[in-house]
Amino acid sequence: PLSLVWFRRDLRSFDHAALFQALRQSKQVIGVFVFDKTILDHLPVNDRRIRFIHDSVIELQQALLDLGGGLIVRYGEATDVIPELVAEFGAQAVFVNHDYEPAAIRRDQQVATTLKTLSCELISYKDQVIFEKEEVLSLSNTPFSVFTPYKNAWLKKFYTQSDDFYSRAYPVEKYAANLKAVSHSEVPLLAAIGFAEAQQNPINLPAGMSGGQQLLDEFTNRMKDYDIARDFPAIKGPSYLSVHLRFGTVSIRHLVREAMQQIRTAANQGAQIWLNELIWRDFYFMILHHHPRVETSAFKPAYDAIQWENGTQADALFQAWCEGKTGYPLVDAAMHQLNQTGYMHNRLRMVTACFLIKDLGIDWRRGEAYFAQKLNDFDLSANNGGWQWAASSGCDAQPYFRIFNPITQSEKFDAEGKFIRRYLPQLSKLDKRSIHAPWKAAPLLLQQAGVKLGEHYPYPIVDHDSARKATLTRYAVVKKID
Ligand code: FAD
Repeated sequence: PLSLVWFRRDLRSFDHAALFQALRQSKQVIGVFVFDKTILDHLPVNDRRIRFIHDSVIELQQALLDLGGGLIVRYGEATDVIPELVAEFGAQAVFVNHDYEPAAIRRDQQVATTLKTLSCELISYKDQVIFEKEEVLSLSNTPFSVFTPYKNAWLKKFYTQSDDFYSRAYPVEKYAANLKAVSHSEVPLLAAIGFAEAQQNPINLPAGMSGGQQLLDEFTNRMKDYDIARDFPAIKGPSYLSVHLRFGTVSIRHLVREAMQQIRTAANQGAQIWLNELIWRDFYFMILHHHPRVETSAFKPAYDAIQWENGTQADALFQAWCEGKTGYPLVDAAMHQLNQTGYMHNRLRMVTACFLIKDLGIDWRRGEAYFAQKLNDFDLSANNGGWQWAASSGCDAQPYFRIFNPITQSEKFDAEGKFIRRYLPQLSKLDKRSIHAPWKAAPLLLQQAGVKLGEHYPYPIVDHDSARKATLTRYAVVKKID
């Protein structure tokens, strides 16, 4: 029988569950990628992610060609294109990897229903996580809602099997002979699918499987220092692999094997902490699977009773936050990093999210939506998890009375002001003490540094201490219900 493999957020030709299963179970296999109008039509013409996907698809096509097969690339509504291709090739099955996002689940159900009328099946596999759905449960067989016991159960299950069973690669090459060569399918130009042709790769990270491998090679040398380096945005601490994990140009199993190897051979703390982050990723996918309502509501329902600021004044504050004009340098530098590059350091995601919610009193959903638009690595599960963590409404969130002080965070995690200087050059001449809160600096110092507040850089749009008090009052409704 002939099968299609429909690539979505898994743009690689190695260690790929659906591709492996299709090759093992079918005589002939053809790869397909659809630039899906349903998703693309809602994105701005200069969306950075599209170039990354585009470049990755070109590399995937070449890789499949090299293996003796090919990749058909189409532009249209996936819910129409997939059944059309099934009819054209007389395919009996379409193999995919699970997607846990509610909209993707609805799309897949719709496609599966249409395929049935063509006597074709949609067959789906776990691929983008190590453990999913009900695979890691508590002793009472219920899903976890707190991370640490989940992580312990995750590790326990992982270690029940020897030889890294759960992170073993799917040996796609073994059955590559079943790939069917297809006549070349041109990858459309970005302009042809409604996007601007960027001169340079706007993400500034290498795309495709080769790009993922390059970043991983470079990170494996730094992994041992991750536990210490990861918290300081001015230094190269994290892996920058998130966009590759998002589009599946790296394999989660490969990353886990790399971390496990360092844990075993060097017993280093960095690798252990990095592995924890990969487990957080599994955790939030699991949460989204069991509680799809978090897409729009608080994980802890009581938190939906909170009254957020709205109206024109709140809109102006939100706008200032988006544009990096709050007057708090670390928050502003972080928002510039996001707006300019599509990446934001994890520590700063926590700081900026907390600032929007607890200093400006604005609904976390507005910040979540802004991040979704701007982040190269935007993933509904992790983004929602991160925002609900900051809002204290999430499954394993920070307590509502824990309110980051944006100045202290700045002094602690960007002590020299190096990160701030990179993104706010107008403050670059301020000394390392004044740069965290310029409005507190002596007028002479400001003058010497060439900073005129209100002109080169804004005064703070809120006073943190009063905002803190207002937030405790706002959250009192939760305390009453709790
Ligand atoms: P590394 O530190 O090298 O971590 C390796 C990988 O582990 C990451 O690529 C990511 O896949 C995973 N990971 C790390 N931290 C987390 C976490 N807290 N939750 C889930 N997975 C994690 N991550 C996203 O991938 N997409 C998002 O849309 C996203 N939105 C966020 C929003 C907020 C408000 C917060 C606080 C965090 C968010 N994160 C998100 C988690 C985290 O900030 C990023 O995964 C990380 O900064 C990506 O950089 P990296 O690849 O260099 O990470």
